[in-house]
Amino acid sequence: MADYDVDLFVIGGGSGGVRAARIAADHGARVIVAEEYRLGGTCVIRGCIPKKLLVYASRFHGEFEDAAGFGWTVSQMSFDWPTLIANKDREIARLEAAYGATLAKAGAKVVKSRAVLVDAHTLQLANGDRVRAAHILIATGGTPSYGDSIPGIEHAISSNEAFDLPVFPRRVVIQGGGYIAVEFAGIFAGLGSHVTLVYRGENILRGFDDDVRQHLRVEMEARGIKVLTGCKVAAIERSGVHFSAQLSNGNHVTADCVMFATGRSPYIDKIGLKETGVEIGKNGGIAVNEFSRTSVPSIYAVGDVTNRINLTPVAIREGHAFADTVFGGKPTKVDHSNVPTAVFSEPEIGAVGLTETQARAQLAQTDIYRAMFKPLKATLSGRDTSVLMKLVVDGETDRVVGCHVVGEGAAEIAQVAAITVKMGATKADFDATMALHPTAAEELVTMRKKTASYARAAAE
Ligand SMILES: Cc1cc2nc3c(=O)[nH]c(=O)nc-3n(C[C@H](O)[C@H](O)[C@H](O)COP(=O)(O)OP(=O)(O)OC[C@H]3O[C@@H](n4cnc5c(N)ncnc54)[C@H](O)[C@@H]3O)c2cc1C
Repeated sequence: MADYDVDLFVIGGGSGGVRAARIAADHGARVIVAEEYRLGGTCVIRGCIPKKLLVYASRFHGEFEDAAGFGWTVSQMSFDWPTLIANKDREIARLEAAYGATLAKAGAKVVKSRAVLVDAHTLQLANGDRVRAAHILIATGGTPSYGDSIPGIEHAISSNEAFDLPVFPRRVVIQGGGYIAVEFAGIFAGLGSHVTLVYRGENILRGFDDDVRQHLRVEMEARGIKVLTGCKVAAIERSGVHFSAQLSNGNHVTADCVMFATGRSPYIDKIGLKETGVEIGKNGGIAVNEFSRTSVPSIYAVGDVTNRINLTPVAIREGHAFADTVFGGKPTKVDHSNVPTAVFSEPEIGAVGLTETQARAQLAQTDIYRAMFKPLKATLSGRDTSVLMKLVVDGETDRVVGCHVVGEGAAEIAQVAAITVKMGATKADFDATMALHPTAAEELVTMRKKTASYARAAAE
């Protein structure tokens, strides 16, 4: 590889790129990572981490309310957005620096610049410099997409801007029904905004289990979030510092902030893919094989830019597998099955495996075990809330193929449940496990009676 400046050039210092760079350097490769914005990428700078910090902030409101039933008097509740954002920014800066330190320790060089492909082995930096690399990894992530252009769309913000609003919005309209829309609805509502969630589909969180979707909707509405489905924001008008969101059903909502959380697209604009012959797949992301190799043999791609499963741990696993494959002499494929997922809504969702709808389409026999109950804490707090637990079981093999939870701690439960689903645990294994009392999760091992059982409909 003597005629190359480096063994690996990584475009994008986010979850996937940083992991790949570090592991490749550990394997002895000479590595450069180019990052055009901030090291750490979406997850660290304007995704998972700042979002979860805002979620924590938003939950205190409910905790203060719940405290009364336990004998506490909480007087003078007040919330200061600038304090939260400044503290969040400090933590993000710390993490960004830690990413830099990790790369430096591994011996990977970071270049703070945009990089674009010139050919299968050449990259161009913003200052015009060119770098020749034996291998290139594209890890440029995703970017918010606003859907159809509507009048006044320039007034809408995406999740990127939501993390840094200079003034806390008292009234918010959020368009979208995915996890980011739902999470920000919970954040703003918990912090004291009047929130209207507008979604053109029939119910929020498409792709999640239908019981989960319905349960969350009811819980969100009980917390004062207005959920409008079957319509969308058709235009946004500005009047001074306020906005009017004109809805497709003829109504309008006045707001201090209109946020669009209408999906994310692979960030592939103007990075030289076409010129280099890197093909795009049917899903709109860079097409890759099971080793994350693109149509150009020296170029690989991992993470959101491939639009496989757009989650941080998946990007990290793909980056690691790439580095082991190309520089570690250990060809490694990533198993994309049974990836657990969470929605940090209020209450939160944790899920792994098949939904009931998916199971009924795929399996000869599907058994459902479902429980809905008032959590112990709500007995004294008086909060009108319930927990949903659902197991989807393959009726032929008794394997638990799906686990869905809505309620406090659901994400933590789903992470552990994912191990059991991945291992192929059966419903009998769940039943044989002793309950841990008093918890909500004990319901998962005490649901004895099937709620429903379905045979797959014969093909016509
Ligand atoms: C609001 C929000 C909340 C989320 N919450 C969660 C969550 O709770 N859990 C979870 O698992 N996932 C979550 N995600 C998704 C997660 O952030 C992504 O899946 C993950 O960051 C993908 O990593 P990546 O390496 O593919 O890309 P990214 O982390 O997006 O990194 C790509 C990097 O490449 C840089 N870049 C792009 N083009 C160039 C170029 N040409 N030259 C140089 N640099 C470039 C970008 O600036 C960026 O830093 C969330 C996302 C959002 C937006």
